[in-house]
Amino acid sequence: MQITRQRPETRRGAAENFTGTVWLDELAAPPAPSRLRMFNVHFAPGAHTAWHRHPHGQVLHVLEGEGLVQRRGGAVEPIRAGDTVWIEPGEWHWHGAGPRTFMTHLAVVEAAEDGTTADWGAHVTPEDHPA
Ligand code: MN
Repeated sequence: MQITRQRPETRRGAAENFTGTVWLDELAAPPAPSRLRMFNVHFAPGAHTAWHRHPHGQVLHVLEGEGLVQRRGGAVEPIRAGDTVWIEPGEWHWHGAGPRTFMTHLAVVEAAEDGTTADWGAHVTPEDHPA
């Protein structure tokens, strides 16, 4: 066994890309030719991402709590510990905690050739997600 990163540095989610309190641990970013990027993302109640998309899609695996995910044009869907969600390449979506629950998920993506893991859009509005 090789431990590649014993203590990830926890970073705050940037205000332009997230609403509420979000903390991210980058668990894995192995060297090329791998483009795997794996994060553990912790959302406080009511916190969530802005609308965004991933060039090669994204796997979300909920570790703790209850949360929400919405794909553009679709309903807000509940997710909870044990659920695994696949987001299609280029599909606009957002994800985060429920209004009164914490939520932690693993987020696994493949970066684009230029290193991009996400394209960010507008913040989620009350019309998208009535609280
Ligand atoms: Mn995403």
